[in-house]
Amino acid sequence: MDLSAEVTSINGIGEKTAETLKKAGIFTVRDLLYFLPRTYENFQNSVKIKDLKPGKISVRGRISDLKTQRTHRRGLYITTGTITDDTGSIRVIWFNQPYRAKQFDEKRDYYFNGSYDFKNGRYQLTSPSATLATDVEVTTDEKGRKSLKKNSFQPIYSQRGSVKSIKFNQFFEALRSDFALIPDLLPGTLEDDSLTVEKPDFVYPGARADALFSSHFPDTTAEIDAARRYLSYEELFELLLAANLSKQENSKLKAEILPFKAENTKKLISSLPFKLTNAQRQATWDILKDMEKPTPMNRLLQGDVGSGKTVVAAIAAFQAVCSGFQVAILAPTSILATQHYEGLKPLLEPLGVKMALMIGSTRDKANIKKQLKSGKIDIIIGTHAIITDDTDFHALALCIIDEQHRFGVGQRQKLLLKTARNIKKTNPEFTYAPHLLSMTATPIPRSLQLTVFGDLDVSIINELPKGRQPIETKILKSIEQKERLYPKISAEIAASHQVYWICHNIEDNPMMETTSVKKQAKKLQGIFPQQKIEFLHGRMKPAEKDEIMERFAAGKIDILVSTTVVEVGVNVPNASVIVIMDAESYGLAQLHQLRGRVGRGNAKSYCYLISNSEDQPTKRLIEMEKSTDGFHLAEVDLKIRGPGEIYGALQHGALDLRIATLTDTPLISLASRQAKAVAKEFTEHPESMLKYKELMSGISHYQQLTTLN
Ligand code: ADP
Ligand code: MG
Repeated sequence: MDLSAEVTSINGIGEKTAETLKKAGIFTVRDLLYFLPRTYENFQNSVKIKDLKPGKISVRGRISDLKTQRTHRRGLYITTGTITDDTGSIRVIWFNQPYRAKQFDEKRDYYFNGSYDFKNGRYQLTSPSATLATDVEVTTDEKGRKSLKKNSFQPIYSQRGSVKSIKFNQFFEALRSDFALIPDLLPGTLEDDSLTVEKPDFVYPGARADALFSSHFPDTTAEIDAARRYLSYEELFELLLAANLSKQENSKLKAEILPFKAENTKKLISSLPFKLTNAQRQATWDILKDMEKPTPMNRLLQGDVGSGKTVVAAIAAFQAVCSGFQVAILAPTSILATQHYEGLKPLLEPLGVKMALMIGSTRDKANIKKQLKSGKIDIIIGTHAIITDDTDFHALALCIIDEQHRFGVGQRQKLLLKTARNIKKTNPEFTYAPHLLSMTATPIPRSLQLTVFGDLDVSIINELPKGRQPIETKILKSIEQKERLYPKISAEIAASHQVYWICHNIEDNPMMETTSVKKQAKKLQGIFPQQKIEFLHGRMKPAEKDEIMERFAAGKIDILVSTTVVEVGVNVPNASVIVIMDAESYGLAQLHQLRGRVGRGNAKSYCYLISNSEDQPTKRLIEMEKSTDGFHLAEVDLKIRGPGEIYGALQHGALDLRIATLTDTPLISLASRQAKAVAKEFTEHPESMLKYKELMSGISHYQQLTTLN
């Protein structure tokens, strides 16, 4: 089986479907095989209607009396119907899924999985999923594999574009007899494998094929679990092998030695209007020590919002400048780059450091580039455009990337390759790379650091500057806004403070119950007619967004109604209230980031979490109310969401893991041990790598994430 073949080689996948799949990152047969079910519908436990008990249930029956109505008050679509089996009938209801009314063939059986509860005066099944019950006989193919008992476990895939779950079932059905031909991957499982490394018992020749087959055609939950374990292990192993190899590669690179000179650092620190916290001091020390080494620093500075990472970066930058080298500071957006520039300028310019800002709207770019090349500018601050443009440096030795999780994986790689080209080579025999300092405000629990940061050294600022007033956080039900929230908003604005108002979607969407930016802005204008209210969202043009943010920062807007685009790093110290509508639709990490938009000035700040639900507040919201410690919340998040979900949150961030159970410490240590042993073997006998073609190409994917040279 050729895993690298395009998906069009599979029966039933034409050009059009392939295009859609490509957009979802599925190019090859391998990509498709690793597109694992989001969940499994378990039909083994379906119950007869007469035996139903309240709770999560599965029933099999036909549906009739389908009707959709729109409520007057909230404009919700409500679809109702009756499900009948040979023992009785129940009522079913869906909210804002108007397509349900047309989805069903009333003459056929479906499985309905959902919550059966007593609501509004009667028992009903609320918003169940529905799957056509196509009974398939259990057969055995020529390779001895049992065919799926469709009615016990049905894999459900996330829809990708127009490709629905059922389509994925069909694709895998077309591949079913080929699964046994999936080649092995891990060291120790290949034919005539020369590597003799320790491996767990679930890694054996054929284990990969078994795991993928069980994922797409499971018979029992035990099989699903075993498959997950193997695939998690495989993924962790690849990731950790990549990290180990990168670390070894990095140690071969040279970097400029940027010696620590106490009098310089003291000069800067004594000019600060505050005393560094202990955590800042420790982090600074780690960094300055790294920069004295002849190999490139590769360090991540992790610190909660407001913990004071900027000044640490300034001290590092100053050390490089004092040694006669240049520094590039990169931020993900123009707004953030501008804020860094404005924040660092008063610290560094009085000490004779020449700085420049280069963002999309900068006029004299040519001139700045000339000065960078000649070495007249010491520190350049900008978006990654400074690197992707043809910018040449005179002597770049330190690169600082802020909010690194916002940089795409490929971008960071490109950026560093590019900077390497710009390095002044003191000794032409070596490959030089800049020292690299990444900064992030996303707290990652310690238990995850090994996997998430692989080969990075990490410094943590886990302490806020003294005298900060904690942000007061309150959960409010939607209906309590009028009495408890609006008066507070008026009072804060009257005291010349400003307000962020976060909404979930941009425009009203009949499929969603959540509040939209546009509607909310209109509504608030009615409630607060005297105030200047504007809205902001990700679909606006960058220049338009910048312009609104700038006016908000300048105090010209009282209430900024926005989607989560304001989440990262933006600093408007005069904003003292943040209201988050539909608060339960966000993860803890994101809520915490959003809350960090306020509490940046001297005034007491408030965060209101508006719950759209009539039920008790969720554990997440309660935790938000209780704690403002980002690291604590990250640990809690991990516990609440469990291993199955955390990877989803990281997918767009630091790490692109699909499967791995990041909380499974024993599995991580196993993978880590094997990865270390294999990396050592590969370094000592590079020719042995040739045998592991597929593994090595998988690794280069992870190296894009972890290699920083
Ligand atoms: P972040 O880590 O979120 O980037 P910043 O570097 O923007 O945080 O710092 C937030 C604010 O705290 C800034 O106004 C900064 O001047 C201030 N600050 C930083 N360190 C200290 C300190 N040790 N004591 C008091 N204020 C500090
Ligand atoms: Mg910052």
